[in-house]
Amino acid sequence: MASPTNDDVPASLPTEATIRAALDRVTLPQSSQGLIAAGRIEGLVVREGNVVFGISIDPKEANVMEPVRRTAEQAALAVPGVRSVSAVLTAERSAAAPPPQPGTNARPSLLPSVAAVVAVASGKGGVGKSTTATNLAVALAQSGLKVGLLDADIFGPSAPRMMGITARPDLNADKKLIPLQAHGVSVMSIGFLVAEDNAMIWRGPMVMGALEQLMRDVAWGPLDVMIIDMPPGTGDAQLTIAQRVPLAGAVIVSTPQDIALLDARRGIAMFRRVEVPILGIVENMSYFLCPNCGHRADIFSHGGAHKEADTLGVPFLAEIPLEPAIREASDTGTPLVVSAPDSQSAAVYRGLAEKVRAQIGAAVRPAPTIRGV
Ligand code: ADP
Repeated sequence: MASPTNDDVPASLPTEATIRAALDRVTLPQSSQGLIAAGRIEGLVVREGNVVFGISIDPKEANVMEPVRRTAEQAALAVPGVRSVSAVLTAERSAAAPPPQPGTNARPSLLPSVAAVVAVASGKGGVGKSTTATNLAVALAQSGLKVGLLDADIFGPSAPRMMGITARPDLNADKKLIPLQAHGVSVMSIGFLVAEDNAMIWRGPMVMGALEQLMRDVAWGPLDVMIIDMPPGTGDAQLTIAQRVPLAGAVIVSTPQDIALLDARRGIAMFRRVEVPILGIVENMSYFLCPNCGHRADIFSHGGAHKEADTLGVPFLAEIPLEPAIREASDTGTPLVVSAPDSQSAAVYRGLAEKVRAQIGAAVRPAPTIRGV
């Protein structure tokens, strides 16, 4: 990402049209054709002065197009009102290209000040991945760790709402975005950069462009653990994150229904393929906890995730009930572990946090009460 030399955001924010005009004044090498006219700009998002876009290239052009990428970034940055620009080169993967090998990534770490990065993932949307990620992050903070929450859910960023954040991140003197603080956790969301109703198709490189901005260009400071709320699914975007972010492990959230479990299995396979340890499976909406009488009812074929975890040889971490109070807590911006710390479900989230902490214990600062599992 590039940042402007001046902090003042003029009253009028840049529009997509002004950014497009600026990008079209950047021409291709040995050509008079602008980037827009040449059809090279894709996935342009302009939101509150933050600009993200991709420049499509043939992989063979990577060297000659890198200076063009930098020029395009500077051109967008020069538009009045622009606060940050993140431009990435995107190339369709050639079918003949060998799959990237795990462990051979020579790029410097994107998060040098974070001891352990944990992805919270799910095979599909709507299973409660974000709810689990936020309660896990807050429970880890309550246990005394310095915690960051990075909401990378490109299809529906929800951390600001679930953590009760209405402010937007500011820039510090070094032109880095300052994470927002909520419930003892440092929070950044891809929702701060892109419109929530944006229907664009995110490809892996585009996601990485925006995510790199949220990692490298954010003043995270030293953290014991960062929770990444992953986009649901196991496509190109998710695979790219799993490959490029130095993950200590992944937590897979699933509902008890078999269909969701098949999706969860795909998620596990994806992380295994890139040698990211699976910290375990969480079964969310595992059983119904009646808000009136506290009665527990197994409305789905409860226990499926536990069996699946056993079959796949990964730890089973928690059974979280389907409980209206969990949704209400998220909707009002105060995760359950804060709004009802004495509840049964808050204890379940704390148990989850303890298990995660135990598994990443070697990476985080000394935690004498924790033993390995
Ligand atoms: P995902 O991140 O997988 O798309 P969310 O965390 O956004 O899912 O959850 C989807 C919806 O279900 C939200 O309205 C959330 O409040 C609700 N929800 C998630 N987990 C529970 C639960 N255990 N009990 C009740 N409601 C839940």
